[in-house]
Amino acid sequence: MDALPWQHEALDSLLGRAGLPQALLLAGSKGIGKRTFAAALTAAMLCESPRPQGRACGACPSCEWLRAGTHPDFRLVVPQSESEGEAAQGADESRSAPRKASQQIAAEQVRMLADFVNLSAHRAGRKVVLIAPAEAMNSFAANSLLKILEEPPGETTFLLVTHHSQRLLPTIRSRCQRLDMAAPPPAQAMQWLESQGVADAEAALAHAGGAPLGALDAFRDNEGSRRSALLTPLCEPATLDVLGLAETLAKEEMPSLVSWLQKWVYDLIASRLARRIRYNVALAPAIERLARAADVSRLLAYQRMLAETQAVAGHPLNAQLLLERLCFDYADIWNAGQGEIDGRA
Ligand SMILES: [Zn+2]
Repeated sequence: MDALPWQHEALDSLLGRAGLPQALLLAGSKGIGKRTFAAALTAAMLCESPRPQGRACGACPSCEWLRAGTHPDFRLVVPQSESEGEAAQGADESRSAPRKASQQIAAEQVRMLADFVNLSAHRAGRKVVLIAPAEAMNSFAANSLLKILEEPPGETTFLLVTHHSQRLLPTIRSRCQRLDMAAPPPAQAMQWLESQGVADAEAALAHAGGAPLGALDAFRDNEGSRRSALLTPLCEPATLDVLGLAETLAKEEMPSLVSWLQKWVYDLIASRLARRIRYNVALAPAIERLARAADVSRLLAYQRMLAETQAVAGHPLNAQLLLERLCFDYADIWNAGQGEIDGRA
């Protein structure tokens, strides 16, 4: 596993050091490639014939095992939902009937590491644990990890990936050396996205907030056209067919829909107040027209309401009703308030 083009310098400088820390916290926003970096670092640490600058060879038994996911000196700890999702890939209908797997990393998953840490390494004398994302550990899991980190874990290196480092226990943060990772410059990100076959890399990157892996995932999920099904009707709030729209979008996950709405409203507000558009650059003319005609305080109130909705969007009581309400409230930003008093404010 190779690092991404914008990570080579950081990887080489880390590998060039005399010794790696016992625990390394890779912090930065989501979708910029922290996990890929952690995988490249893991491969380099476990490789049995590393290249001169310290990177993995990609061909030794250790590199082969890592690729196959069977390395005896490596443990990957991820939320249950992710490991089940991977196991279910290829199984038909797995997406249409999802079981609610936990988004958390459970204490049991971390406790199992204690044995791994105490046993000696099978191969080169090093072991690596990768926890991603570390903030998915529930408090029991976090405390179990803390216990392991408090006793020097010998030849084991812990790599913790985090999108929200402030959500980690301060005691865990303080035991890790922190490496802050940033998104690559847009030109480099676009070049990489094009090399991955992403059409309209600029729009994809903008909607992903500059995070290239987020943009690639969205492209592979055909998110652009799914998002258009929501956003194109929103360009005409006066004639918005709320019930029809809610029906069209019934198959979409509520957190995605709310997130698309949040970015849309962010752009409306930014266009009105700062004359710039961050996410939906391809729809700039419609956004500018809508922003000019909207009451800013209504937009801000709607934005606050979306933030509250997002907090519970993972488990709505009735997704269809919620979506309808969001759309009605959206249309009201332009359709109501023509001299009348909005009783629901
Ligand atoms: Zn190797």
